[in-house]
Amino acid sequence: MAGEFDLTGKTALVTGASQGLGRRFAEVLAAHGAAVALAARQTDKLAALAAEIEGRGGRAFTVPLDVTDCAAIAAAVAEVEAAFAPLDILVNNAGVAVTRRFLEVTPEDYDRVLDTNLRGCFFVAQSVAKRMVARGGGSIINIASVLGQDVIGQVSPYCASKAGLLHLTRAMALELAKTGVRVNAIAPGYIETPMNQAFFQSPPGEKMIARKMPVGHLGQPDDLDGALLLLAGPASRYMTGTTLTVDGAFTLS
Ligand code: NAD
Repeated sequence: MAGEFDLTGKTALVTGASQGLGRRFAEVLAAHGAAVALAARQTDKLAALAAEIEGRGGRAFTVPLDVTDCAAIAAAVAEVEAAFAPLDILVNNAGVAVTRRFLEVTPEDYDRVLDTNLRGCFFVAQSVAKRMVARGGGSIINIASVLGQDVIGQVSPYCASKAGLLHLTRAMALELAKTGVRVNAIAPGYIETPMNQAFFQSPPGEKMIARKMPVGHLGQPDDLDGALLLLAGPASRYMTGTTLTVDGAFTLS
């Protein structure tokens, strides 16, 4: 069974790999044998991560990519495949949140969140899937959120974007089912990253952990390792269109 999580010979693209969950996803995939292509806007951070992965004996490649720049997506994917390796795994992770009351959300807030979390994921997935379909297989993992299923206040565009991403996961999975390309999602609960660190270190954040987290603490990025490795590798060969929730029972609270 250990071989089910061995990704030797596979190549993965991780978007938003410069920090937080994306960084961890890239490290874990590399530690299990995958060659990893790292994409983000902050290429200095990507270069440092690539050097770390190579220092541990892995293979890494960096590519600058702003997922809101639709025209740049196909070129970045083509560059990865030409200069590094054909992609077997996509982790569609880049995402942003804007915290503002619904009545005060501006069109710019809305566009920033939806263009990154939904439109960006859509066209990165489309670009990679075209190539995977031509080769007869692959695994696409969309990083959604429990807020795509449940809602909290002050992040309405984020909730809408993640609900859209969960539905997109199912729609893609259905259309691609016969091609060998599997499409699944991970819906994390609250995982401590630069996206939310300041909030959870504030009094309202501490109160939320105490009152709303059944396990009594936030998740850490490595708490998603199991879901990621399952969906990336052959152990999930009959899973497509599925969402794995990893939330320490937050959605039950
Ligand atoms: P983070 O802010 O630490 O990292 C987000 C990453 O996305 C960064 O590397 C950033 O540079 C990149 N990014 C943002 N906009 C981009 C763009 N236009 N083009 C390319 N890269 C871009 O946040 P995180 O917590 O690591 O979040 C990663 C993903 O996980 C996001 O999709 C987020 O919505 C999701 N998520 C996080 C949590 C959590 O509690 N941390 C919970 C549920 C879902």
